[in-house]
Amino acid sequence: MSWIERIVESLAPLSIEQHDAKVMIAEWFYTGNAYDLEQPIEHCQLCGHPDIRYQFEIENEHTSNDLLVGSECIKRFRISAIDESGSRLSERASREKVDRDRSKLIQDAKQRRVVNALVALSIADEEFEIESFIKYYRERGAFTPNQLKTMIWRLKQHCIDFRPSDFKMILKRQREQDQLRRMEGWQVAQLWPCMSASQRSSYARRYGDPTT
Ligand SMILES: [Zn+2]
Repeated sequence: MSWIERIVESLAPLSIEQHDAKVMIAEWFYTGNAYDLEQPIEHCQLCGHPDIRYQFEIENEHTSNDLLVGSECIKRFRISAIDESGSRLSERASREKVDRDRSKLIQDAKQRRVVNALVALSIADEEFEIESFIKYYRERGAFTPNQLKTMIWRLKQHCIDFRPSDFKMILKRQREQDQLRRMEGWQVAQLWPCMSASQRSSYARRYGDPTT
């Protein structure tokens, strides 16, 4: 079965148009509802593609039927997104909206993992003052070098599962840059996965690569 036949097979029972794939697809729009399943466990209900983690809801404007599909399908078949008043967006704006919504899901998942790791740490380590870290993270979306040094060390010590790359470093203020500058190379090496590519290259230019 070709992919266009597969699409028609998925959409026809839920659409008004029964034959012309293009007309059928045009009846559908992306509602703006998108979900993170946290694991790639679903199939795209449009093309059957397996291992879908992020689901995007599309709806038929006549029948109000809906399907959960992958973001690639919305882009490939040029399914339009809608604005707040329900008007259809242009093809370009629709693609941008899908990409934005997908990035937001990825970002939210990262934040959840960070908060979950810190909660696990606060249970394992009574001396860890979780509130100030969470408050700082909510306000700035990242941590200072000193905060990271404390957290990464404690997370490792208590064998708590975490992804270092989820914990972003902030280096905007002079105070934060000074914190990093005062650290030993081996300490910076531990925080290396928390640093962005540009933070790493600017550090390496000045002080050398601490991981080699
Ligand atoms: Zn698909």
